[in-house]
Amino acid sequence: MGARLPGLTVDELAIELGSATRARRVLRWLHAQPAVPATLPAALAGVASRIWTEFVARAEWAPPTVRERRRDADGTVKYALQLGDVVVETVRIPARGRSTVCVSSQAGCTRRCVFCATQTLGFGRNLGAAEMVAQFMVARAEAAVDAPARNVVFMGMGEPMDNLDEVLRAIRVLTQGPAPQLRAQSITVSTAGVLPGMRRFLRESSASLALSLNATTDEVRARLMPHGRTWPIARVLGVLREEAGRDPRRLHFVEYVLFAGVNDTDRDADRLVELLAGIPARVNLIPHNPFAGSDLRAPALDRVLAFQARVLARDPDRLCLVRWPRGRAIAAACGQLALARPPEASSHLSPSAVS
Ligand code: SAH
Repeated sequence: MGARLPGLTVDELAIELGSATRARRVLRWLHAQPAVPATLPAALAGVASRIWTEFVARAEWAPPTVRERRRDADGTVKYALQLGDVVVETVRIPARGRSTVCVSSQAGCTRRCVFCATQTLGFGRNLGAAEMVAQFMVARAEAAVDAPARNVVFMGMGEPMDNLDEVLRAIRVLTQGPAPQLRAQSITVSTAGVLPGMRRFLRESSASLALSLNATTDEVRARLMPHGRTWPIARVLGVLREEAGRDPRRLHFVEYVLFAGVNDTDRDADRLVELLAGIPARVNLIPHNPFAGSDLRAPALDRVLAFQARVLARDPDRLCLVRWPRGRAIAAACGQLALARPPEASSHLSPSAVS
């Protein structure tokens, strides 16, 4: 599955086509298409016709079908994409001058974080690298000219560290020349804290890592994220601290979803600062995005800002941002990807707080 055309490395493609020049031509052509082609063309300029025809016959070209496309007033677009036997969600988030594509790595998820809507789907299957790159291609093709898709975050459905071979392959393909040639630093892989995968990822990739921490005690974390019992906070953060010893310039992200009455006290903010001492990580505070069937709520706006202020007061050199939800009205925000309708539940954060 992974080793299909949009998931092939340039070297693999060179073997398929018998020359590196042809491989580069194909990649240049593929990633310059205005839309993901439904079929591969009968001929391709610069590739001998017999070689191309034989390749097309083996290539099993199977681009995603867009089942649904929802657009939020804030410009965020959520795609439901049919990939063979499964449907997954991909989100394109425009910002000033560029867009970020949020890619799914699994259909459903292997993890059971209680605050995440994807968890309610259970686990379908791992996606192949070709399917991850294809998600990027679909979203990129529709990005505005003045906001090209240059950033990719593996923050959609799924736990990337539970499908690491294919995620690493997708990153290799996304960063390779001649196209699409994204910068490794423009790719972020988010993990719920799967320790063995994190270690391997940090060794084998130069893309950025985002750790979903979400609590400051093991007890609270394990309630929210059951695998927290297997890999406690100190060990998970220990891996980031070790990495800081090896490469002090490598910057990580720590994601902290804020839940009212669960992990949003001043004491939590203080513990968060203590836990992160010596770790070069930016902190992203994410007010919880609601979904039907969950009682968890985001704190009131002033509590979110007070938490941030407390972190910054204790740790003035740390970058700590509040990530206001994007695409919440179309259930495209963090933790809302469950192939469902927009959430019914109202939240403490009014739409005017959304930036
Ligand atoms: N499995 C990976 C990637 C998917 S989740 C991971 O856990 O990191 C991507 C981010 O969304 C994580 O930081 C996660 O903690 C956050 N998230 C999950 N559910 C959320 C929700 N309901 N509201 C806000 N953020 C949520």
